Amino acid sequence: MDFLYDFRDPLLGIMSFFLLILIISFINYKLGNLKNSREVESIKNFAKNFGDEDKIKNFKTDLIPSNILLQMADFFMKSGDFAKSINIYLALLDKDEFINNKKLRHEILSNLGNCYLKAGFLQKSENFFLESLRLFARNEEALNSLIILYEKSNKYEKAIKVMESLEEFTGNIKNGKSYLEAKLILQNKNLNEAKKIDKLFKISTENSFVVRLYLEYILKNRKQIEFHRIKNFDLNDSIDILWNLIDKDFETQNLESDIINQISNAKGFSNYEIKNPIIELEILQILTNTSYDKINLGFEYNCSECKNIFPLYFYRCPICQSIATAKIEPIIIKKTNYNY
Ligand SMILES: [Zn+2]
Repeated sequence: MDFLYDFRDPLLGIMSFFLLILIISFINYKLGNLKNSREVESIKNFAKNFGDEDKIKNFKTDLIPSNILLQMADFFMKSGDFAKSINIYLALLDKDEFINNKKLRHEILSNLGNCYLKAGFLQKSENFFLESLRLFARNEEALNSLIILYEKSNKYEKAIKVMESLEEFTGNIKNGKSYLEAKLILQNKNLNEAKKIDKLFKISTENSFVVRLYLEYILKNRKQIEFHRIKNFDLNDSIDILWNLIDKDFETQNLESDIINQISNAKGFSNYEIKNPIIELEILQILTNTSYDKINLGFEYNCSECKNIFPLYFYRCPICQSIATAKIEPIIIKKTNYNY
């Protein structure tokens, strides 16, 4: 004890204290550098795993300022030249200035994911989105794109999980989630036809967006649609299916469904009173009642988000990728030999 006491010199104590701080700071600095260099190496390796290394080396990125390169990559991506944009993005990821900029880095990784997704390389695309989300879990664009990717790959369970994490940002995921749940039911090999119909019916009572999937499944399996079961559904998104379905064999009892009744009227099977008439169906009804049979009803499908018009129905817009934005527009067309 005396030995220790002899060394309790106040000056030596202060010097030891500062020496200790210096050693700790030095160790922290070295550990920080090591962590950063490992992350840099990890990103570089990640990028190299996906790029054409020769092309990246041949691309003289050092001669062009990085901000111009970024604009070029964005431009090529928007114009659909994914090979060029991928090579530039990968070259940018290899630059230390981007590796140290976390925001730009996760954005570039997300853009790379989108390039590969649009080019049809789903596995590569998934890796880039996951890497982007590893850096920044709140990357809304990467989350949205990952849902689309899982939808395309028929991985509906994964898509639902990502959608649930997206709910925090977008709020309303009701239509998208119900759609994915319905697709999961259709995909389930452990469910027989009757159980699938039951489950789809149940989801349809909760969300009208799924009614169409329910009707499509019944028709695909050559089952009769029980109109009295669907009369209370919102059938606006299924008017085209019902138009082709309701024919002279259709039971003519009043189902108190405006859409079903109005189609029945327009085809000349009934004369029900309609609360909210669709003008095209009203015109057809008038002409059918006067025995004029040279016109028919056709349909266009408008996206309420991007305003594009399509000839077929879509659950997710092929252009803007929004879900549940298809609006069915009935149009009066000239009757041909191909329709009735
Ligand atoms: Zn759209």
